[in-house]
Amino acid sequence: MRRVSIFGATGSIGENTVDLIARAPEEYDVVALSGGRNVARLAEQAIALNAEIAVTCYSECKQELAARLSGTGIDVGAGPEAIAEAAERPADWVMSAIVGAAGLAPGLAALEQGATLALANKESLVCAGALLMETARAHGAQVLPVDSEHSAVAQALVGEDISSVERVIITASGGAFRDWPLEDLPKATPEQAAKHPNWDMGQRITVDSASMFNKSLELIETREFFGFDPSQIEVVVHPQSLIHALVGFNDGALMAHVGPPDMRHAIGYALHHPERRHLPVERLDLVKIGRLDFREPCERRWPALRLAREVMRSGGVSGAAFNAAKEVALDAFLARQIRFTDMAAVVEEVLEAMERDGALKCDRMRLDHVMETDHLARKRAAEAAEQIATEA
Ligand code: NDP
Ligand code: MG
Repeated sequence: MRRVSIFGATGSIGENTVDLIARAPEEYDVVALSGGRNVARLAEQAIALNAEIAVTCYSECKQELAARLSGTGIDVGAGPEAIAEAAERPADWVMSAIVGAAGLAPGLAALEQGATLALANKESLVCAGALLMETARAHGAQVLPVDSEHSAVAQALVGEDISSVERVIITASGGAFRDWPLEDLPKATPEQAAKHPNWDMGQRITVDSASMFNKSLELIETREFFGFDPSQIEVVVHPQSLIHALVGFNDGALMAHVGPPDMRHAIGYALHHPERRHLPVERLDLVKIGRLDFREPCERRWPALRLAREVMRSGGVSGAAFNAAKEVALDAFLARQIRFTDMAAVVEEVLEAMERDGALKCDRMRLDHVMETDHLARKRAAEAAEQIATEA
């Protein structure tokens, strides 16, 4: 039996992971499940999968979770520390599917006990890629990408010499506003931004798809995960979301990964790695699809892409500042304090101010420094958002 844990079990990636595990209960011993406010669903999952422990990140939700699990023998925990402790419980395979920088600490804890980390939480790589990959190496643990583009790149690289790679192209659907006139973007509402043309995902990543902050995180994720030079990594808009990424080799070959927009493919690939197993995803009918389109991403529509290039150029802890400022700007947009187009302005202002202060430099990445940078960037982003809101 393989011991598995799922952090962020009640979310979109978490539910898809639970779906795959629940199809073969005889193969898995479920160790820990974590969630947030959706305590009812977390308790249901813990009972269905007979988990050892269920943890909510909110201490005020502990009582309800304990009540729902009373008499089951399942341990209960609450708060970020309890999540990190649950990640220290020995497991062979751990799904990192918390949303945001909160996924970093449990991911590191899982790697420290040698688990294979299936990484959906791209924010950990953006905030602290060097630290995460170094922790994996130091403990002989493996990190497998779950983001569809990065899973596609990893699959195209199997058996290849990485030095023969010339370029990597990750695709972007363009999100909810790819065809909107530019002058309408400031009027876009959170409800409109949260409607993805192809993928069914959590609210935050869906809005990040419309702004391309998601793709900008993924540019940085590609660099941190595979070590490619930023000049080798390209983004192309592909409205059908069927090709997830392409890898170009020095002989001119371009290997594309084609599949339906269903995260169970990338999750299942990471779950069964290095084997391939049957997965319950749609089989594509190429004739029905008929055509695949590609467009150049316009940086006026999606300034986040330019900001990601800045982050890769300046290095240090700028990824942590970028992600934290982005999270705060997204909260401010969702709360209708700032406009859709103000999010990039907030992030840019924070990055510029912190770079001016020398606050983005670091020689050897440490968790406390990453967290300090995260806090500082959040504070600055909140101030910048407040300023924009009062001027409007
Ligand atoms: P969701 O918002 O659907 O789920 C997030 C999960 O994290 C839920 O279990 C939620 O609990 C929990 N959670 C929320 N806030 C915190 C916190 N502060 N501390 C601990 N747990 C928390 O997100 P997704 O599943 O869409 O995304 C998860 C991660 O996977 C993200 O990093 C995202 O970028 C990445 N990803 C997602 C894809 C997708 O298709 N959805 C595709 C590729 C990557 P609750 O809901 O109970 O409050
Ligand atoms: Mg992706």
